[in-house]
Amino acid sequence: MARNPKARAISHPPLFTTFKPAGVVGTKLTTITLELDEYEAIRLADYEGLEHEKASDAMGISRSTFTRLVERARKKMALMLVEGSKLVIDGGSVHFKENVYQCKACNHRFRASILEEKKECPLCHSSELVDFAKGFGHGVCCHAKKEKE
Ligand SMILES: [Zn+2]
Repeated sequence: MARNPKARAISHPPLFTTFKPAGVVGTKLTTITLELDEYEAIRLADYEGLEHEKASDAMGISRSTFTRLVERARKKMALMLVEGSKLVIDGGSVHFKENVYQCKACNHRFRASILEEKKECPLCHSSELVDFAKGFGHGVCCHAKKEKE
């Protein structure tokens, strides 16, 4: 798969990927897709409270691109809240800086380098791990991107 040279840097994969209003059957809902770069823009600007300048640096994009991204993300969040849509976080041209794993045996969640795949839980040594970057189809590609930097 060709790598987009404009891939935006995302700190780590989101822990939750699907949101929907309570009490509505899933199949009746309109789905909005929040792309990973839009998610990161919201996370940096509104959750971490970073200035747009710092946030755009963190993602490796221009400030004007960041502003457009965060505006698009907020519009989607507003649509979701007002219209009761289902929201799925996926896609976007991105690479992760770090990975997140969760152990299926003891539920321990931990961040780790994207450079090498973790095979066991540091606490209980179980090999039953959920690899969040892999869940988004990422990992090796982020690694390659990182080597270029
Ligand atoms: Zn464990």
